[in-house]
Amino acid sequence: MTLRDFRPGESARILAVGGEGALRQHFLDMGVIPGAEVTVEKLAPLGDPMQLRIHNYELTLRIAEAEQIEAEPAEAKATAAFSPVKRKETEHPGLGEGGRFHPKGTGDPLPESEKLTFALVGNQNSGKTTLFNQLTGSNQHVGNFPGVTVDRKDGVIRGLPNTLITDLPGIYSMSPYSSEELVSRDFVLQQHPKAVINIVDAGNIQRNLYLTMQLLEMGVPMVVALNMMDEVLGNGGVIDINRMENMLGVPVVPISAVKNEGVDELIQHAMHIARYQEAPLRQDFCDESDHGGAVHRCLHAVIHLIQDHAQRAGLPVRFAASKLIEGDANILEQLDLDENEVEMLDHIVLQMEKERGLDRSAAMADMRFAYINRVCDECVVMPHESKEHIRSRNLDKVFTGKYTAIPVFILIMGAVFYLTFNVIGAWLQDLLAAFIEGQTAAADALLTRVGVNPVLHSLLVDGIFEGVGSVLSFLPIIVTLFFFLSMLEDSGYIVRVAFVMDKILRRIGLSGRSIVPMLIGFGCTVPAVMSTRTLPSERDRRMTILLTPFMSCSAKVPIYAFFVNAFFPDKGWLAMTGLYFLGILVGVLMALLLKNTVFAGEAVPFVMELPNYRLPSAKSVALLLWEKSKDFLQRAFSVILLTTICIWFLQSFSLQFDLVTDSHDSILAAVSGLLVPLLKPLGLGDWRIATSLISGFMAKESVVSVMEVLYGTEGGVRASLSSLSAVTMLVFSLLYTPCVAAVASIRRELGRNWAFGVVCWQCAIAWAAALLVRLLFAALGLS
Ligand code: GDP
Ligand code: MG
Repeated sequence: MTLRDFRPGESARILAVGGEGALRQHFLDMGVIPGAEVTVEKLAPLGDPMQLRIHNYELTLRIAEAEQIEAEPAEAKATAAFSPVKRKETEHPGLGEGGRFHPKGTGDPLPESEKLTFALVGNQNSGKTTLFNQLTGSNQHVGNFPGVTVDRKDGVIRGLPNTLITDLPGIYSMSPYSSEELVSRDFVLQQHPKAVINIVDAGNIQRNLYLTMQLLEMGVPMVVALNMMDEVLGNGGVIDINRMENMLGVPVVPISAVKNEGVDELIQHAMHIARYQEAPLRQDFCDESDHGGAVHRCLHAVIHLIQDHAQRAGLPVRFAASKLIEGDANILEQLDLDENEVEMLDHIVLQMEKERGLDRSAAMADMRFAYINRVCDECVVMPHESKEHIRSRNLDKVFTGKYTAIPVFILIMGAVFYLTFNVIGAWLQDLLAAFIEGQTAAADALLTRVGVNPVLHSLLVDGIFEGVGSVLSFLPIIVTLFFFLSMLEDSGYIVRVAFVMDKILRRIGLSGRSIVPMLIGFGCTVPAVMSTRTLPSERDRRMTILLTPFMSCSAKVPIYAFFVNAFFPDKGWLAMTGLYFLGILVGVLMALLLKNTVFAGEAVPFVMELPNYRLPSAKSVALLLWEKSKDFLQRAFSVILLTTICIWFLQSFSLQFDLVTDSHDSILAAVSGLLVPLLKPLGLGDWRIATSLISGFMAKESVVSVMEVLYGTEGGVRASLSSLSAVTMLVFSLLYTPCVAAVASIRRELGRNWAFGVVCWQCAIAWAAALLVRLLFAALGLS
């Protein structure tokens, strides 16, 4: 029997895990190991994937993957009545209380001048971002890891200037299953942070401790931050912290990142272990008496075998040995064993597999989980089901329910766009626009009164104020859109969307996970392209990157708003929605094309955790919005300001550098004129349009600012373009080449050729689609 043969509500005990390679390792790392008990919870609305409960958390896998897992029926556990446990207070050993977990408290510390660097490591959804924001406040710096485009956030811990903390990507294990795991692993091994802060979701402690075990194997100084303690305590759960510290050999600090509780204590402990370089007191988790001690003997044999090699390669020896036993090719290569040693290694592992009756990876995962189970048995008392989980289960009846999931998704996205473009964002935008207009008029009046040189006057008023001002007024819409997207993501809804949509996305050759970059793409293509790094398959990643530019990014909103206001003020919402859908439609067609040509093959597996729904923390949301606004303002005052000035200059002077009275004679008209014949069939054969489109390549927002400069006013545009041409222009702007920043990030991910390809075919597609739409609307009688 395999897992697929079980109906929702039935429980099973896993007998064997099939599959191979990285996927199988990932199964094991997620706790899908022989002997584990699972309950099938539900199937996605379209019948695939399925949702399981294992080790007290929710996991999704596809039917095809479930077929590779052999299982036998198990007694179903009585379903979860909420039963609060009596809570007993335990006192936590603070810093200096006999230095129980700081054995080197009086030893030789690192000099004060040495910068203390920390890595923040934890599972996804363990509260990493929230904790990072609490630790650093606004002292953050966002960048990339050297050489790869995985988001990297650094920050100084508040109040401690000589520190640096790096937020590593959320991972489940130290196996190189996705590039994020590899990044985190390399960071800890090669950048040598002075200490690791391991954040653990206390409500999901079994699964989270798996990563902790691997970090302990690495032997780096570490402190465990037991997060979400507010929920655990609220549910009447008890965790014996002292005991857990004893068993793990590292300081464990209970915290609540959202409520900022325990964070100061965490900092103290982290500073201490970093300053005194206290390695974990315990690394040896394999038990002599566990199944005859096969794994224990194997591990120690390998440790002895490779000790000198590991030292030379600069790898923690126990970590290297564990990875070798799991069959990690990357580590094997780094160790540079000779032929004899490799053979010995194989023999040792073979013998262990024979004695233990499990294969190498499963045996290692089992050894770690066996220890975790002991820790949990001794230190953790949890209610059968937490309030948060009950709440999530109820919400999921609607959000992933058979008949409700898809309509609700459409409703939610509809509401997000409606609120952004029609209600909140639009209202704020009007306010800001009025303010900017007032400032512009005031500046105009002032300059006239002072009687400045007309060229300077024109630069300031027509160039800078009109151009940058018009872009600036879109800030509220963009911030509102990001606000909603981040709420959806942080609350845990987006992963549900991935779960629900997986089957549909597979039709077009993607997996449900690709929905995340796609939805981010509605905000901005650059982070969307970067977020594809979480996809474990190279094929899916590439394909997703090529498709995200079709999701209409928020920088195009000013273009839409501008044209819709000028030409179809009463059909605003319809036009906006139509454009978004057109983008998606073209994306789907493109996906089908790619799927059947360049990217033939199967989509990646879909092993994913469904976290409980949570209310995002106000601080995290506020910081994100601040970051986005800052980003937008920086662009407005750098790229867009420069473009505006250049365009103003080019249109004010002729080829002989004389000031022109009619911009028809300007340099700009001459240059852009070259493109006019291409745009003519679209009814956009005007050099001013060509110019604004070119500047849109720098930043989409500047299409509008340039039009403002070139046409003078909105009325000017209305007078020179027909409604039909406005429609064509909208379609063309939607689809043509992504901006420079997006192309650059595509280049970083896929290389020069792909990036160049994207620019070319998007322009071609935009041209063809615009022409088609034009013909269609002309046939419908628009002129
Ligand atoms: P990340 O994926 O590890 O970066 O996790 P986030 O920081 O985004 O947190 C995931 C969710 O958990 C968010 O909705 C947070 O508001 C919530 N969260 C984080 N820390 C805590 C906590 O201590 N208690 C509670 N109740 N929720 C938390
Ligand atoms: Mg996060």
